[in-house]
Amino acid sequence: MKKRYDAVIVGAGPAGIFTALELVKQNNLKVLLIEKGPDIDKRDRRSVNSGWGGSGAFSDGKLILSTEVGGWLTEYISESALSKLIDHVDSLYADFGGKSEKFGVDADAFLELHMKAQLAELTLLQVAVRHLGTDKCTEVLKSIYKYLSPRIDIMTGTTVQEVLVKKDKAAGVITDDGTVYESGKVILAPGRSGSQWLADEATRIGLDLSVNPVDLGVRVEVPAAVMEPLTSKLYESKLIYHSAHFDDKVRTFCMNPYGEVTIERYSDNVITVNGHSYASRATDKTNFALLVSTTFTEPFKEPNAYGKYIARLANLLGEGIIIQRLGDLIEGRRSTADRIARSTVTPSLKEATPGDLSFVLPYRYISDILEMLEAMDKLVPGVFTRNTLLYGVEAKFYSQRLKLTSGLMTDIEGLYAIGDGAGITRGLIQASAAGVIAARDVLKNT
Ligand SMILES: Cc1cc2nc3c(=O)[nH]c(=O)nc-3n(C[C@H](O)[C@H](O)[C@H](O)COP(=O)(O)OP(=O)(O)OC[C@H]3O[C@@H](n4cnc5c(N)ncnc54)[C@H](O)[C@@H]3O)c2cc1C
Repeated sequence: MKKRYDAVIVGAGPAGIFTALELVKQNNLKVLLIEKGPDIDKRDRRSVNSGWGGSGAFSDGKLILSTEVGGWLTEYISESALSKLIDHVDSLYADFGGKSEKFGVDADAFLELHMKAQLAELTLLQVAVRHLGTDKCTEVLKSIYKYLSPRIDIMTGTTVQEVLVKKDKAAGVITDDGTVYESGKVILAPGRSGSQWLADEATRIGLDLSVNPVDLGVRVEVPAAVMEPLTSKLYESKLIYHSAHFDDKVRTFCMNPYGEVTIERYSDNVITVNGHSYASRATDKTNFALLVSTTFTEPFKEPNAYGKYIARLANLLGEGIIIQRLGDLIEGRRSTADRIARSTVTPSLKEATPGDLSFVLPYRYISDILEMLEAMDKLVPGVFTRNTLLYGVEAKFYSQRLKLTSGLMTDIEGLYAIGDGAGITRGLIQASAAGVIAARDVLKNT
């Protein structure tokens, strides 16, 4: 059975959805969007990375309006072009119900904090953020579905198995039930959960892949009052530190004022830690990740396998996530339930097992993280105290990248690879912007 379309999109995460939103501007195009996970209404926490909305559906809904954070699209288009695109995508989120206050735009407040950070050997990036919260994010995705469903064909619960290529040109896809969908324009947006599939398909059809870094570290939880000087002005503070001992890049990631620490489960049974904040409920704590970025060179080419190995170690020792008081880590002893109970910070993640992170993370990571916390303490006093809670491990895996044009087309004509799965973005806004770039290139060449 064969069906013909002008464009086929694989994956209904932000990258795939925004490709569709841009393509439907041209009325007569016949577009098919294929998603392996369930519809938005049928999604639950078991399908956290898969289904309508992709990883975006249960994400924290932080729209990071930055050309420097959340992706590497400036490697394909100019910074000013990306900046315009980010405004465009931001306004689309607002149109579909995602209007909310913009943080981090007060230039005077930023300058003051930036200078204070410099004195602590930290770099503070200026990042404007809108916070939808997980609940509102789902609403936005529902209203986009409502808008798109009469305009394109949407198939959920269907997995694309193969990309079809004829004479070095995209020719369509084959789904798990053996149906062929023919199209000269195929946009692959499979997200991180589909990145291995994309890498395997790329290798099969003869495209080259490069190796990306892996980010490993811990999630830090402190009283919200400690982080107030930063969070009240900037909401999401992006701090970068280069450690004195190893000269490694350490950064803060995904700061959740008044939020909760959460668990992230991967399909291969690996459990890592994450964080959320909800627009509708608040705790008295703020959490953020501290991540150390490592790019392996010859001969090792599997950074994700390394990251999962470390995460599994924590899962083995702690039956999931390990929690430790900073004071215990420094004193060289494990945390126990009693010691955690004596901390002035009550853990927001109750399932974490008190233990010793130095049995899990290599010395290099522990040393980098302690140095960064000490540096941060000069900017926000109270971070480097014995009561601070550390949860491990937090890991960020990046997909391998393909060679792409400025329109995000691969070496195969008409075949595009976008979003987190293609290793070029790592956030809602840049993933969505990547969709718009690819769609405009499709429209230009149709
Ligand atoms: C817990 C969590 C919280 C996050 N919080 C934030 C945040 O606050 N702010 C932010 O900017 N970013 C956040 N992110 C990251 C953000 O969700 C991603 O950057 C973004 O969703 C990437 O979009 P994408 O379209 O590239 O991929 P995804 O959103 O992962 O979507 C890809 C889709 O493709 C589908 N798919 C894969 N393979 C196939 C196949 N073969 N056939 C059919 N379908 C397929 C998948 O099922 C999936 O639905 C968070 C991520 C997680 C996991």
